[in-house]
Amino acid sequence: MERWTDWNGSVAEAPVMRWWGWGDPAHPPGLPTHALGFLAEAGIDSRPCPAVALADVQLEPSSLDEAALAGLREIVGGEGVLGDHSERVLHAGGKGYPDLVRMRAGEPEGAPDAIVLPAGRDQVRAVLELCARRSLAVVPFGGGTSVVGGVAPLRGSHAAVIALDLRRMAAVERLDRESMTVTVGAGMRAPALERHLAERRMTLGHFPQSFEYVSLGGCAATRSAGQASTGYGGIERMVRGLRFAAPAGDIDLPAFPASAAGPDLRELLIGSEGVLGVICELDLRVREAPGRRLYEGVFFKDFAAGVSVLRELAQGPAGPDVARLSDEEETRMSLALAGAETVKQRLGQAYLGFRGFRERGCLAILGFEGSPRDVTRRRRHAIALARRAGGLPVGRSPGEAWAKGRFAAPYLRDELLDHGVMVETLETATPWSNLLRLHGDVTGAIDGALAACGTPGLVMCHVSHLYDTGASLYFTFIAAQKQGEELAQWRAVKEAASRAIVAGAGTITHHHAVGRDHSPWMLEEVGREGLAALAALKAEVDPAGIMNPGKLLPEPGPTGRPGL
Ligand SMILES: Cc1cc2nc3c(=O)[nH]c(=O)nc-3n(C[C@H](O)[C@H](O)[C@H](O)COP(=O)(O)OP(=O)(O)OC[C@H]3O[C@@H](n4cnc5c(N)ncnc54)[C@H](O)[C@@H]3O)c2cc1C
Repeated sequence: MERWTDWNGSVAEAPVMRWWGWGDPAHPPGLPTHALGFLAEAGIDSRPCPAVALADVQLEPSSLDEAALAGLREIVGGEGVLGDHSERVLHAGGKGYPDLVRMRAGEPEGAPDAIVLPAGRDQVRAVLELCARRSLAVVPFGGGTSVVGGVAPLRGSHAAVIALDLRRMAAVERLDRESMTVTVGAGMRAPALERHLAERRMTLGHFPQSFEYVSLGGCAATRSAGQASTGYGGIERMVRGLRFAAPAGDIDLPAFPASAAGPDLRELLIGSEGVLGVICELDLRVREAPGRRLYEGVFFKDFAAGVSVLRELAQGPAGPDVARLSDEEETRMSLALAGAETVKQRLGQAYLGFRGFRERGCLAILGFEGSPRDVTRRRRHAIALARRAGGLPVGRSPGEAWAKGRFAAPYLRDELLDHGVMVETLETATPWSNLLRLHGDVTGAIDGALAACGTPGLVMCHVSHLYDTGASLYFTFIAAQKQGEELAQWRAVKEAASRAIVAGAGTITHHHAVGRDHSPWMLEEVGREGLAALAALKAEVDPAGIMNPGKLLPEPGPTGRPGL
C-alpha cells in the first residue's frame, strides 16, 4: 500500500475502511488509560460494548433482478458490479454516529442491492440511463465518510438502490503548471492527490479531518472545508471547472478563472450531494508547496478574548492559515487527555504559573504556511495581537502536537464506542457579532437535551474556519450511551441543537453538508421559494428522481414539493 508522507508523519492511502468504525483497521489503540477515569469523574459511565462480527450483520437479500444486473454488467463489465456481503456492508452507510451505532449492532437500515464501479463518464451516463429506465435509485459514493446520512442506501419509491462507487475514476488527468490547475477523476482520494502534487512541490491544501479517506468528488459534492481553510479556502474556492453527468444529460463547466456569463452553475453543482447527478471530473486550483509550516499555541484568558483576536486576525491583512480556538471545556478536556506530565512539557512554566489560565484558559492553535519570510511576518503580527489582548504564547509544542494528531481523533471515537460512550459532533457558522451568543445557545441546548435524556455529559466547542465576516463553531459532545435507546437519545440531542442553531441565526451546516440528517432544516435555511427552485432544478436534470433520494431536499410535503 502506498503512503502519503507529510512534514509531520505519514498517512495510509486508502486501505479498506473498518466497516464498524473509522479508518485503517491496523491503526493502534490510542485512548489514554486515564481517559475513562476522567469521564467517570465527569459523571459519564462506561461499560464494554463490542461490535458484532461482520458475518452477523443482517442484510436483506438484493432486490435487483437478473435483467438489471446483466444490464449493469454490460456497461461496466462483470468485475464492476459487486454484491458480496462485505461490500454491501461497507456501502450500507457513512461514518456518522447513528451509522456506527446501527452498524456495530449489526442492524444497518439497509444496504445497496449492488455496488457499481464505473470506469469513466460514458459508463456513468449509461448506468444512470439504465437506472432511470428501470426505476433504480442511485447513491453516488466517494470515500463514504459522510456524517449526515449522505450515502444512506435509501431507495425512495424505486424498486432497488445501487451505490455508484467512483473508486475506478481516480486518475490525475492533467497538470497545468502555468495556470496552476490539476484535473482529476472524482473518485481520486485526497492523500493520493497530495502525494502526486508533493512530488512536484505543489499542494491542494485541502485537509479535512477525514483526509485519509475522502474523495475529491465527495469533497466537492459536500462543500467540504479543510483544517487550513482559513488560508487555502474551502473546496468551493478550489474547484475551477467540472464535468458532470445527470440522468437528463451532461453539464461541462470549463475552468475559467472567472466569468460573468450569468449565475455561476459551478456553485449549484458544488454541494449538490449527488441529488442532481454525478461529478465525474474536477479542475482544481493548486498552490506551490509551502517552504515552511509553523503551528503554535496561544492561551487566552477566556473564550471571548480569543474570539476577539481571531476576528481581528481574520479581518486584517496577515491572518493565519489554520486558526482553531477551543472553548474552556474543550481546552480542559484536551489537557486532561494529554495528561499532566505532557502538559507540563508542552506548555512549560509560563502557563503553569498562571492559575487563571489553568482554571479557565482557552487554547488556540495558529498555523502559518508559506515562504519562511511570509510565515515569520504573519506569525509576528498574530503573536503581537494576542499579547496585546492578554494572550500567552506557549510555543510550538502544542501546535505540533495538534498537527501530528489531527487525523487521529476519529479513532478515539471508535474506542469510546467500544466503552458505551457516545461521541458526536455538529457544526455551524455565523457572523462575528453573533458568535458568542450562538455558542452559548447551542451549548445550553445540547447540555439540556443530554440532561433530559438522563445522561448528562460534556459539551465543548472550538472556533475554526475564519472569514472576514464570521466563523464556524464546531461542537463535540460526550455522554454515556442510553442502552437500547442510543438512536432516540442521539435524535433528541441533534434536534435540540439544530433548533438552537436555526433559531440563533446560524447555518444548519458549515461543512458537514445536508444529507438526510439536516434536510428537515432546509426550509428554514433557504426558504420556500429557495427550496422550490432547487426542486425545479432537480426535476429538470433528474426527471425520474433516481438520484440520491431522501438527501438534501426534505421529503415532499402535501403539495408534492419538498417540505411544502
Ligand atoms: C471523522 C470525520 C471527520 C470529518 N471531518 C471533516 C472536515 O474536517 N471537513 C469536512 O468538510 N468534512 C468532514 N467530514 C465529513 C466528510 O468527510 C465530508 O463530507 C467529505 O467531503 C465527504 O467526502 P467523501 O468522498 O467521503 O463523500 P461520501 O461520503 O462518499 O459522499 C458524501 C455525499 O456526496 C455525494 N457524492 C460523493 N461523491 C460524489 C460525486 N462524485 N458526485 C456527486 N455526488 C457525490 C454522496 O452521494 C453523498 O451525498 C468528516 C467526516 C468524518 C467521519
